[in-house]
Amino acid sequence: MMQQYVDTKKEYPDCILFYRLGDFYEMFFEDALTASKELEITLTGKNCGLKERAPMCGIPYHAVDGYLNRLVSKGYKVAICEQMEDPATAKGLVKREVVRIVTPGTNLDTQALDETKNNYIMCVVYIADRYGLSVADVTTGDYFVTELETSGKLFDEIYKFMPSELICNEAFYMSGMDMDLLKERLGITIYALDTWYFDDALCQRTLKEHFKVNALEGLGLGDYDCGVIGAGALLTYLKETQKTDLAHLTKLTGYAAGKYMMLDSSTRRNLELCETLREKQKRGSLLWVLDKTKTAMGARTLRKYIEQPLIDKEAVERRLDAVEEFKAGAIAREEIREYLSPVYDLERLVCKITYKSANPRDLTAFRCSLSMLPHIRCIMGDMDSPLLRELFDSLDTLEDLCRLITDAIQDEPPLAMKEGNIIREGYDEEVDRLRAAKSDGKEWLAKLEEQERQKTGIKNLRIRFNKVFGYYLEVTNSFKNLVPDYYTRKQTLANAERYIIPELKELEDTILGAEDKLYALEYELYCEVRDTIAGEIERIQTTAKAVAQIDVFTSLALVAERNNYVRPRINEKGVIDIKDGRHPVVEKMIPNDMFIANDTFLNDRKNRISVITGPNMAGKSTYMRQTALIVLMSQIGSFVPASSADVGLVDRIFTRVGASDDLASGQSTFMVEMTEVANILRNATGRSLLILDEIGRGTSTFDGLSIAWAVIEHISNSRLLGAKTLFATHYHELTELEGKIDNVNNYCIAVKEKGDDIVFLRKIVKGGADKSYGIQVAKLAGVPDTVIERAKEIVEELSHADITARVKDIAVNGHEAKIKTKKFDEVDLAQMSLFDTVKDDDVIDEIKNLDVSNLTPIDALNTLYQLQNKL
Ligand code: ADP
Repeated sequence: MMQQYVDTKKEYPDCILFYRLGDFYEMFFEDALTASKELEITLTGKNCGLKERAPMCGIPYHAVDGYLNRLVSKGYKVAICEQMEDPATAKGLVKREVVRIVTPGTNLDTQALDETKNNYIMCVVYIADRYGLSVADVTTGDYFVTELETSGKLFDEIYKFMPSELICNEAFYMSGMDMDLLKERLGITIYALDTWYFDDALCQRTLKEHFKVNALEGLGLGDYDCGVIGAGALLTYLKETQKTDLAHLTKLTGYAAGKYMMLDSSTRRNLELCETLREKQKRGSLLWVLDKTKTAMGARTLRKYIEQPLIDKEAVERRLDAVEEFKAGAIAREEIREYLSPVYDLERLVCKITYKSANPRDLTAFRCSLSMLPHIRCIMGDMDSPLLRELFDSLDTLEDLCRLITDAIQDEPPLAMKEGNIIREGYDEEVDRLRAAKSDGKEWLAKLEEQERQKTGIKNLRIRFNKVFGYYLEVTNSFKNLVPDYYTRKQTLANAERYIIPELKELEDTILGAEDKLYALEYELYCEVRDTIAGEIERIQTTAKAVAQIDVFTSLALVAERNNYVRPRINEKGVIDIKDGRHPVVEKMIPNDMFIANDTFLNDRKNRISVITGPNMAGKSTYMRQTALIVLMSQIGSFVPASSADVGLVDRIFTRVGASDDLASGQSTFMVEMTEVANILRNATGRSLLILDEIGRGTSTFDGLSIAWAVIEHISNSRLLGAKTLFATHYHELTELEGKIDNVNNYCIAVKEKGDDIVFLRKIVKGGADKSYGIQVAKLAGVPDTVIERAKEIVEELSHADITARVKDIAVNGHEAKIKTKKFDEVDLAQMSLFDTVKDDDVIDEIKNLDVSNLTPIDALNTLYQLQNKL
């Protein structure tokens, strides 16, 4: 047996091998060491013919799912090796085979997976300076392919899909990208497969065979040379690990990444599209507000919509029409939603059916879901908008399948497939006959029991059954003396004896024979029904997709109605004109409609850039994000939180907000900030929307201001960039740009002074803020009074200080200390500056220009002190 183990393990060196031994899956050697540690199970040993005992650990077969998930979620691959024959009847060593390899991207355990999210596996190939990308979800049958020219775009796609496993060719792995960083950010496993997986001819052949076509052009994949290699390698890998024909991967959809709005990973995170920045949870994200879907398929589709907004006006309008129709038709919508409620995850059910792992209860759940379809279709028949008409057309009610399950399967079958009670009466004559024989047998048993009681006078004589002896007669000790000779004793218990008689054994053969045959036949018929359904995968998948979209549009309509959203007017002239816009998430978080609505106006002419000033906490980032979210919501086809909105389609949204959480990558905050700014300036276009918050904060005031200034100049220039931009800043100096560049406008968020305090009005108004109110905000935040008072004194003194730097005595905590002061908004020379690190030349010039003969000794000392400070 150990030899068989070692041979099997050799074929799966990169997997942990779950080796079935009776009721356990055992692991040996290295695998046992790893698994015992990761799963916290006891490590034992087994004699294996070697000098030392082999380390071993095991898990009971019925609890395998939990252990398997724990290993897989930690990134391990697990090969499951089953006994292929019944050990009781097998001659010699039981035959064993690996039946499936479970990896993070191919986990099928729907209990362990989040049903509102796809579980993607991705394959990336890097060939001749292009990236081919293919991604699949084996639980739903989704399968896509695309191609990208730059690593930046590739990363945008990777972060869009957030796969749980990434496989690639060696060239990509070695392409100089930081794989460890990527692994850490995504929290996934990434590994290169052997070169042969990526053989062009093999990939083409695999795809052609799977989709039964002669040429890939037939699948619409003519344009994806490099992508096809990714898709082919992925399919080979999946077939190898899943060991099934993957019949539910019915379509390979090619898509151009440029057809959707581009969102880089930090923008996705900053805008908190599907999860919040800090807690990484759905509550508090845009998805959380928009998701009122009833089905898992709907939830996944809505997430996809949010993750890839459209950029085509017509496509956006089609979705908006659908939402509008459901918003107006509340009765139809609510009826549909009621019918959607009991609909199960058809896509994942179909996957189970094709994997032959669906149990009889899955089929009844499937039937229950299907029985809702005719009602939904009937209501959809009254819809007018083109997209809803299309969904109506593709919604197959699948009544034939529903009828088949109703006819064949009992209403409440068991989970087990091989223990009968599955097939409904009247579906198959032979089943009915065997069942009758089985129940007649039970009657005969009762008769025999009665007859023996009469014959022997043993009043409490009982016929019972167990798996070891089959049927037997049980007599308690008090009646032992009445037992006749023809009873054969089989077993003695403390208070009873068990016997058999020939008549009982004959009956047993009839009953058990009927039962065996019945169970086998029921299983066979069950498989037939399941396979018939599996033959209709494409119809079911198409219907599932239609149901998912209907779910999304009804959900968006309901949200629009409840939250008082309006339909955005889409334009291609680049005008963003939002009246009374609100932040969809913040307005939900603060109580009693306290959210203050604000307008946004941006266009490609005089209003390209808004420079927004205002104290901390005034609401600058809320305002900027709300604008970005309203644009994004419009482009997924949702209504928006505003009293009216004109939205010029944008091709990308970029955000640069606050300190990034990238400190783990070992870069300084400033470096991260500048890298993001570089990315934005290089990749944004004149049709993009930029949200820039506090650019230049991470360095000295002087440098920061200069960088911010230069960035605005660059963006405002349509020959260089010309993107619409909201730019929040602390540097009041930037408000001077309003007069200097004609498409820059100043806005500030109003605050009211009330004695020593300030009140946030949250209203955006034209003009620049003239004060920072830092101390007032610190006070609001609860900084102790003594510190606040002292800060006020220092501000007072600083603001009266002279323009030139000089030494001034300030009382610090009652001691006398000398600190250098200068005018409030002057450059702090003590801070490290990027631009003027070498000042020696200035110092020499200053010394040259000194009028030494007219210096007083104290002036000379002061001057010397200043000069020293400059070095
Ligand atoms: P800033 O970016 O100016 O520091 P934020 O945008 O982070 O300020 O806003 C601070 C807080 O003020 C938010 O968490 C929110 O609760 C509240 N807030 C912001 N804008 C509004 C608004 N328009 N109406 C009501 N409350 C708001």
